[in-house]
Amino acid sequence: MPTETRTTCPYCGVGCGVIARVEDDGKVSVKGDPDHPANFGRLCSKGSALAETLDLEGRVLAPQIHGQEAGWDAALDLVAQRFRETIAAHGPDSVAFYVSGQLLTEDYYVANKLMKGFIGSANIDTNSRLCMASSVAGHKRAFGSDTVPGCYEDLELADLVVLTGSNTAWCHPVLYQRLAAAKASRPTMKVVVIDPRRTATCDIADLHLPIRADGDVALFNGLFHHLVDTRRVDEAFVGAHTSGFSEALMAAARLGMAELSEATGLSGMALRQFFRLFAETEKVVTCYSQGVNQSAVGTDKVNAIINCHLATGRIGRPGMGPFSLTGQPNAMGGREVGGLANMLAAHMELGSAAHRDTVQRFWNAPVIADKPGLKAVDMFEAVAEGRIKAIWIMSTNPVVSMPDADGVKAALTACPFVVVSDIQAYTDTARLAHVLLPATGWSEKSGTVTNSERRISRQRPFLPVPGEARPDWWQMAEVGKRMGFAEGFDFASPAEIFAEHAALSAYENDGIRDFDIGAYAEIDGTDYDALIPFQWPQPAGEPSRKRFFADGRFYHPDGKARFVPITPPAPAARDAAFPFTLNTGRVRDHWHTMTRTAKSARLSAHIAEPFCEIHPLDARALGIADADLVTVASPSGHAVIVRALLTERQARGAIFVPMHWTGETAAAARVDTLVPGRVDPVSGQPALKMAAASVARHAPA
Ligand code: SF4
Repeated sequence: MPTETRTTCPYCGVGCGVIARVEDDGKVSVKGDPDHPANFGRLCSKGSALAETLDLEGRVLAPQIHGQEAGWDAALDLVAQRFRETIAAHGPDSVAFYVSGQLLTEDYYVANKLMKGFIGSANIDTNSRLCMASSVAGHKRAFGSDTVPGCYEDLELADLVVLTGSNTAWCHPVLYQRLAAAKASRPTMKVVVIDPRRTATCDIADLHLPIRADGDVALFNGLFHHLVDTRRVDEAFVGAHTSGFSEALMAAARLGMAELSEATGLSGMALRQFFRLFAETEKVVTCYSQGVNQSAVGTDKVNAIINCHLATGRIGRPGMGPFSLTGQPNAMGGREVGGLANMLAAHMELGSAAHRDTVQRFWNAPVIADKPGLKAVDMFEAVAEGRIKAIWIMSTNPVVSMPDADGVKAALTACPFVVVSDIQAYTDTARLAHVLLPATGWSEKSGTVTNSERRISRQRPFLPVPGEARPDWWQMAEVGKRMGFAEGFDFASPAEIFAEHAALSAYENDGIRDFDIGAYAEIDGTDYDALIPFQWPQPAGEPSRKRFFADGRFYHPDGKARFVPITPPAPAARDAAFPFTLNTGRVRDHWHTMTRTAKSARLSAHIAEPFCEIHPLDARALGIADADLVTVASPSGHAVIVRALLTERQARGAIFVPMHWTGETAAAARVDTLVPGRVDPVSGQPALKMAAASVARHAPA
């Protein structure tokens, strides 16, 4: 008999429900789950091609030590032994875990528990640092906690949706479909897209603002002044529920229209049109994604946006609020269990002695990390400098995706002990592993993920586990036990881990933490299997959905939100030899470093090779014709060779190169080798969206 399994798409943060059907002959097909509240049956091109990515070609099917197949016992014993010896010789901060927003919440929970509560270091960070760390930091500064105030329905209820730094049509396609459908049914609804490029998202835009890279702070500071000047400030809300208004207004330098145009690259007419639309529309949602987060001033951009929503009181009500779109399927789940170097589980704070004590007692842990660990960029620098001597990388490919990607490759090559858990044997990172552990893939995994609107959904297995693959949580629990921590890691199933995680979220809840799924602390395997998607918080005995901040109470000790003073960044110094601003990003039909989407001929047919978008006038000045090969180089001496794509979607002086392609699929096309390891000083998120570059027609030797 054919089987149908309800699960969740493993790609973007929209978190669409999927029904996977397996026929008697093993053939798999997928369709959107009509009952899932994220997508109501819709799927995008990537989601609908999931069945084409499930073959076993390239899979790691058995543990490997130095490239030779080995049994699980030998591999796990070696990992435990090398971690134990390294810690004994050099201390707990000499080891690290680098994990992933692809992991399930249960995987993340065990990794975080092992590193922070038993090894005693906070050196666990995630590729989600590359995705939403600036939003986390901005939320904490403004609200006193990492709380996403909105939900997808707000986009449909709004009269104005501002999409900034987000090619929603390609990167969160089903959310874009929902927005486009809402706009089509309600013509008075307006959409503004703020993006240096004229992307596919602009197809539904009433106004496109082709902003200069990192001009967002100046734009939203200018909007803040405009709201004050036109008396659009909600003085009652500001007075009762916020603090810091005057200081923030003073810091948001008042620029004349000419100066603002210079800082943002936008015409006075476009600026006035945007300001008027925002000021005069009550129901406004401002969505932002990597164009905001992946910046050296990412957290300031987030707070400049939130300042405008606080000033107008447009938060905590239907159809309004700032809304961060997470990139990965479980970036949010990682935040819930503290899978970042500067957080504890259940949104508790590493810096709080009371929170550390709560978590340590709950875990009955021998130690608890008492200071932040190394964030992603710093972690790989520490590997390069020999301070990290053993690292375990799970479900991610930093040799392609990190800034200064060649530096990361060199660091891992020299590292004394590298463990990689993955499904694919051929990733650029897996090739550098001393121990390679076969992980279970999407169709074989069981656990939960949380999407951008805080909705927790199940991923359920529907295919048998191939070879000797094992779940990531099992691998870490086994290593934990072999390191001598028998009691904390005796999990028999993901349901047990989820129940422990839920119990911790309710344990001695001091009213500060907003994360609460305590109602699920007693969940058994049967109920876990049947879990339907729900949004946190969901405290015991309160099944109804809560709208955050509807009561005007925030999570700072005085219950008030904070305006954050944001001064505009100084213009970046330009090197005449590298006159272009390189913007990196995604294409519609590929995901991350293509380890899965490249398996689908249909997806690869959309855009078959890496490219460099460049304005035709810039190209003409450089003697570049459409489809020529060009060399894109950075001041660091790195270069990639890609095909020129001449388009007026691109602004003069700026270029775009996608980040998916690796050294294996196109000659030297790892674009993140060009991006320096510059980070936002508040969030530690790397500035992957902007680098100086030169472009020249490629002259083969
Ligand atoms: Fe998957 Fe995102 Fe597409 Fe939904 S929108 S099907 S979650 S990739």
